Amino acid sequence: MVFPERCIGCGRNTSIEKYCFCRDCLAHIIPAPQSNRYILSLAIYDGPVQKAIHAFKYERKKWLAKIFARWMSDFLSVHPEIEFDIILPVPLHLVREFHRSFNQSWMMAYHLGKLKKKPARPDILTKTRNNRSQTGLTSNERRQNVRDVYRVKRPRLIENSKVLVIDDVCTTGATAEEVYRTLKNAGAKKVYILTIAKA
Ligand SMILES: [Zn+2]
Repeated sequence: MVFPERCIGCGRNTSIEKYCFCRDCLAHIIPAPQSNRYILSLAIYDGPVQKAIHAFKYERKKWLAKIFARWMSDFLSVHPEIEFDIILPVPLHLVREFHRSFNQSWMMAYHLGKLKKKPARPDILTKTRNNRSQTGLTSNERRQNVRDVYRVKRPRLIENSKVLVIDDVCTTGATAEEVYRTLKNAGAKKVYILTIAKA
């Protein structure tokens, strides 16, 4: 794995202070307000964080998965109240996964599992159908669009467990709420959804 010399937030060839950011960019990262006990984000989707996520998702800088996982791991270390037994990624649209050729949430979940020494599984939370992208939909449409779209395979593996679900961006929370509902209905004792950024 080759780490860049450049800051992913501003592109400047300057020393990396923490994660993939220079000192200036770090100073511009706004921590997300934790207004919901179960749906959590590291930062506001803006400035350097937005740039980093864009680089990860669309410029295919896959090495960022490990960096984001470390950031999540540090966040979880200062929030010991977020207890979990297993880590799951939010599944991608099958066609989208094919086009993008990787599920960025699974890559983060995998590395976070290694860091936290917890199992991470890509095959438990799955999609029942390919809904359209949430982009451009109103909050109400988003809720409709994700309704009943997720399914739990092997519910035995999460029954009475505390589940941590990983995703990149939380926008209206429609996806997160649907994931929460699906996993609770499947018997999970607790469900947390942690994303890099809150839009
Ligand atoms: Zn920077």
